[in-house]
Amino acid sequence: MAKNSKHCSFCGRPESQVDFFIMGQDGSHICNECAIQAAEIVKENTSLRSKPLAIQKDQVPKPVEIKEYLDQYVIGQNEAKKFLSVAVYNHYKRLMQEKQNDEVEIEKSNIIMVGYTGTGKTLLARTIAKKLHVPFTIVDATVLTEAGYVGEDIESILTRLLQVADYDVKAAERGIVFIDEIDKIARKGDNPSITRDVSGEGVQQGLLKLLEGAVVNVPPQGGRKHPDQKMIAVNTQNILFVCGGAFDGIEKKIASRLNTRVVGYNAALSIDQIDKNNMLQYIAPQDLKSFGLIPEIIGRLPILTYLEPLDRIALRKILTEPKNSIVKQYTKLFKMDQIDLVFDEEVLDYIVDKAIEFKLGARGLRSITETIIMDKMYEMPSNHEKILQVTLEYAQSKIEKTNINRLKIA
Ligand code: ADP
Repeated sequence: MAKNSKHCSFCGRPESQVDFFIMGQDGSHICNECAIQAAEIVKENTSLRSKPLAIQKDQVPKPVEIKEYLDQYVIGQNEAKKFLSVAVYNHYKRLMQEKQNDEVEIEKSNIIMVGYTGTGKTLLARTIAKKLHVPFTIVDATVLTEAGYVGEDIESILTRLLQVADYDVKAAERGIVFIDEIDKIARKGDNPSITRDVSGEGVQQGLLKLLEGAVVNVPPQGGRKHPDQKMIAVNTQNILFVCGGAFDGIEKKIASRLNTRVVGYNAALSIDQIDKNNMLQYIAPQDLKSFGLIPEIIGRLPILTYLEPLDRIALRKILTEPKNSIVKQYTKLFKMDQIDLVFDEEVLDYIVDKAIEFKLGARGLRSITETIIMDKMYEMPSNHEKILQVTLEYAQSKIEKTNINRLKIA
């Protein structure tokens, strides 16, 4: 075919009307626009032919195995780990249940985890995701708003799941969604509000639809729905939802409930038995209600668990023990420049002390460590030193010069 008479073999347009052609072996051409359309058709068709569950019954990790895996990355939090491991295991079993005549259908048990910020909720979710053979995504409840308001529609939660499942609807329908900061959609009081509560109750009502197991129309690209957009129908019946939130101030609600109970006749705990440093361990569904979650949502999150506050010992372990610990990560970074990084033991204690002093929790460990070794990370790749031994004196000198507020933002 002569060069000046090239046409797209699909839409027939000449070279002058397109950006470029891709040529086939037989000399035929496809223009850039037809190529994009073709790719979309391929994608849609692939998603209709769903892949089977990529795991066999005998390969499903047992709860103990899942917990042992979590132990390698997350310090403490035994109760939450156990609850999560069992929930994930049961999720698999539910997916594998064959329709039998006994009419027993295993229903899902969504989870809610309550724990202060920086105690490992998201880390637990991320870690468990690595072990899973089903689509998994983490979404932040703070961006969600009721339809018609600025923000994202509730259905966009499922868009993320569809995306990680490569738009394989059947695979997404057996996925797991971690909804972070669920406490941020609590309504602002125990009583239903008279005025509209854009970010609270309306969003909870929307979320309820997903938790209940409905067929939901999902915008493929997320964000806001618009009328001429093609929707994908997703059935949420088998999607497991794990929610997490800090529920700041919920201890007061727990305490006041416990106080009323302990004076009552049937008191389960006496006041002096209550561990005031860890009130979250006594959390009960009614506390979530007092905090502002609607009863219907609480009912759909039947498994309630908590995370422990991280004490000095836990923070110290977090620095060095997890497979992916902060110290291991920086050691690896330096090693890439053939530099041996060694922290004196006292430095590690000092980092923990500062994280506690500045009330930064586990999140502060990284920013404090980084502040201490920042100058060395800047200088050493260009000089010939091959060992960095961080002493207490050096660490103190770096932290004392730093504006604490900068660490807080990190
Ligand atoms: P949350 O979701 O509870 O606010 P994250 O899971 O995001 O907290 O924790 C923030 C960071 O602190 C994590 O990336 C991790 O480095 C560290 N961290 C928090 N808790 C733990 C823990 N129990 N074990 C190990 N590291 C932790």
